[in-house]
Amino acid sequence: EKVESRTSAKKQPKSNQHAKPIEKAIASEPLKIGFSMDTLLEERWQKDRDLFKAAVEALGAKVEILAANGDDALQIAQAETLISQGIDLLVVVPHNAEATATIVNKAHKVGIKVMAYDRLVKNANIDLYVSFDNEQVGELQAKAITELVPKGRYVYIGGASTDNNAHLFKKGVFKVLQPLIDKGDITVVFDQWSKDWTPVNAQANMEAALKANNNNIDAVIAANDATAGGVIKALSAQGLAGKIPVAGQDAELAGVQRVVDGTQTMTVYKPINALTEKAAELAVMIAKGEHIKADRKMNNGKVEVPSILLSPIAVDRQNIDQTIIADGFHSREDVYRKK
Ligand code: BGC
Repeated sequence: EKVESRTSAKKQPKSNQHAKPIEKAIASEPLKIGFSMDTLLEERWQKDRDLFKAAVEALGAKVEILAANGDDALQIAQAETLISQGIDLLVVVPHNAEATATIVNKAHKVGIKVMAYDRLVKNANIDLYVSFDNEQVGELQAKAITELVPKGRYVYIGGASTDNNAHLFKKGVFKVLQPLIDKGDITVVFDQWSKDWTPVNAQANMEAALKANNNNIDAVIAANDATAGGVIKALSAQGLAGKIPVAGQDAELAGVQRVVDGTQTMTVYKPINALTEKAAELAVMIAKGEHIKADRKMNNGKVEVPSILLSPIAVDRQNIDQTIIADGFHSREDVYRKK
């Protein structure tokens, strides 16, 4: 799958505000990448920001970053700002998979290509998608939990329904659970999205799940570590923390510490530096007008988006050292801190 370079495309920007890569090369002006982020409120996105910036700069290009803190209108306005600054490529982490299609259309109008980063933009002609295999994230969670609890009453605490990833995570989870549900071994007694991925909303969901089932629950799969944190607070209030297996995702420090403490069973580690390095390399290539080879395709409701998906890693107490700590994702001191 080729991503056509914009130098070869007919729709060149009319204004010379968006200088062609070749002109920039002659003027030896560095390429400029715009990075439009949903939020910086969660730990992982701060890593994404810092590592992406470093990776782009290491390649001799510049990056402008704006984050919208979950506000769709603001994210669109910020993307317009980046576009007006004469960027050579726009990289987007959408808050809302559907709403951000506007951003893609606006960028394309002036000949700027758009890469979806980590989360897919739906119903738009996205040029490239770089992420982890998000369905696999859900599969890893469900595999780990069903090994411990092959039969029982399950709760699924989803992420934000406005995030395409939340749907992929859930799809992966149910791919593993469904045969066990069909056999009658597993019953899903509660299944809800958590608005904007917040721990508070996940906690409220978990409280509702416990109440509706008189605390008769055997396992919980939460879409990420932020929501797992909310789940564990609700369990803890019932004296059940550490007694009911809980899965999360992101290998956030607090999540990994809970794995060490035994209140969270596992997390899914996604090496953010691998993602930022790949994304930066591809961003600079596209901005230079080079062709990209993408081996995967993701349907976003409009097109088959050329996609590059990295592999997530399941982490429990046994392999924290060989993964998260060995990679320097978190320090040993932080992970095994004394309480
Ligand atoms: C990301 C997760 C993250 C979640 C909430 C998802 O799209 O893939 O890593 O935990 O958003 O920010």
